Amino acid sequence: MTLLKVKSLHKKFDDKTVLSDINLDLKKSEWVGIIGESGSGKSTLLNILGRFIDADEGKVFLNNQEMPLVKTQLMKGSEGIKLVHQEYELFPNQTVRENIAYALRFYEPKYREGKVEELLQLTRLHEVQGRKAKLLSGGEKQRTALAQALAEVPELLLLDEPFAHLDQKNKQTLADAIEDLKSTHRLTCLFVTHDAGEALAWADRIMILREGEMIQEGSPEEVYQKPVNLYVAQLTGHVNLFATEKAGEWQMVRPNYLRVVKTEERARWKAVITKIRFKGTHYEYFCRTSDGEYLTFYRSRRDSKVGEGVFLACGRKHIKSISN
Ligand code: ADP
Ligand code: MG
Repeated sequence: MTLLKVKSLHKKFDDKTVLSDINLDLKKSEWVGIIGESGSGKSTLLNILGRFIDADEGKVFLNNQEMPLVKTQLMKGSEGIKLVHQEYELFPNQTVRENIAYALRFYEPKYREGKVEELLQLTRLHEVQGRKAKLLSGGEKQRTALAQALAEVPELLLLDEPFAHLDQKNKQTLADAIEDLKSTHRLTCLFVTHDAGEALAWADRIMILREGEMIQEGSPEEVYQKPVNLYVAQLTGHVNLFATEKAGEWQMVRPNYLRVVKTEERARWKAVITKIRFKGTHYEYFCRTSDGEYLTFYRSRRDSKVGEGVFLACGRKHIKSISN
């Protein structure tokens, strides 16, 4: 069932087109991630959907009801849609608990207290509940803002750069909280990010925004494996590129499809290792082929040294043609 429908949104700031013909369909309990470079229009789109600014053209429907223009509303924002801004605002001198309770200020104290407990649990903030907001880490602030947004479970949750400024541990804590939300509350979420790694892991569906235009949509696997162009390929992960005879046309292969083979006959490339980087779960090998191309591949062990030669192979189907 469609929860949100966006029809042909256009937005300009001064003379600059920031969003151009954006169409979007969001089903109930779906998690959609929009990935785009900085400046591609992500925050503007969320601000329109969250009812903070109006688009120049286009329509937004929530549950088949057209949303009124922001300028005709008494207050900015929307009851059914909650936006957690990229720069979230907490009361700096109030504690985490007080900040969350504030979002529930119109409720009976007994209900409020119970709900605050539940939200602290959900966002893993129990330990820091008495700490003033100004003393929190980026990840704790982010989770406090998320708890506020979830005080009254919205029909649609909009998250602007939920992974920004988070270290690995905080990312994991946020990811755990989100996983809980996905499974226990049938929450619908649209999040935007320039960080593809997390988006690919979380989203049921990915959309790619480039200079205000939606240029690809698909499952995380589709977008990663069949990017429509070089922009999408590079935005969604590391990619090995080989120039072709035609300018602007490339052959691409993801590093995870390259494998080391024993003999030259079975190899597609002969290369020399130039750098090896430890990545925790695996090693990243950088090398240069005899044709002068750069290649990256992954292995679980450090079983070669910088300066050594390797033979590399890859299934034909993993080599894709791609253009700029
Ligand atoms: P993103 O969130 O993808 O980084 P934004 O939506 O914030 O991108 O911005 C998209 C473009 O619109 C940028 O070029 C930005 O400078 C411009 N922009 C955003 N808000 C305003 C505004 N209020 N006035 C003028 N230009 C703006
Ligand atoms: Mg932004």
